[in-house]
Amino acid sequence: MLTESEENYVKAIFKIAEREKKAVSTTAIAAHLNTSPASVTDMIKKLADKDLVEYERYYGVTLTASGIREATQLIRRHRLWEVFLVEKLRFGWHQVHDIAEQLEHVHSEEMVARLDAFLDYPRFDPHGDPIPNSDGKFTLRTQEALSSFSPGQQGIVLGVKEHDTPFLAYLNQIGIKLGTEIKVLEMTQFDQSQRVMIDKKKETTLTHAVSQLLLMKKKGI
Ligand SMILES: [Zn+2]
Repeated sequence: MLTESEENYVKAIFKIAEREKKAVSTTAIAAHLNTSPASVTDMIKKLADKDLVEYERYYGVTLTASGIREATQLIRRHRLWEVFLVEKLRFGWHQVHDIAEQLEHVHSEEMVARLDAFLDYPRFDPHGDPIPNSDGKFTLRTQEALSSFSPGQQGIVLGVKEHDTPFLAYLNQIGIKLGTEIKVLEMTQFDQSQRVMIDKKKETTLTHAVSQLLLMKKKGI
């Protein structure tokens, strides 16, 4: 059995490795978890003793097969709880991440299986991220950032890259959620901000920083 802190490390390593597609440095882990490199090194030793990671000096940390399994099951529980919180308890998508951070550490496999069935086996969480199945497999789909759209192109919001509350609250404020249709009307070369039409009725301007975080399914014109 892993401690909550060990689980958070395993999840952090999985997420950084997924993003960088290579072995993870202890500095990157320290930055991600907001802790000191010395405590990361201590923890990596513990995780290696439990056969969850392999560590090579100057190369970095990689998860073993059982480390990957732990990480995907944590992500599975986290994202299922987010669906539960939004769909059944009526939280907003900007309110669920921190609660799910706590709930993901409850392990009962029987409970997770029943939660999954109760929610009718969702494949994506309220932020549009894929929920791994009990074998740790993620559903893949094609999506591209709104920032890559040219004027005239349009699509549907499938997901968001950032889950922090202020960003999602900002999207709520301007009327963007999963499933919203966005059409790019024009782009300013200077700062790559985009003038967009939201759900065919509201025009607004999105900064490049924001449109980079919106993951879209492009519609054919
Ligand atoms: Zn979350």
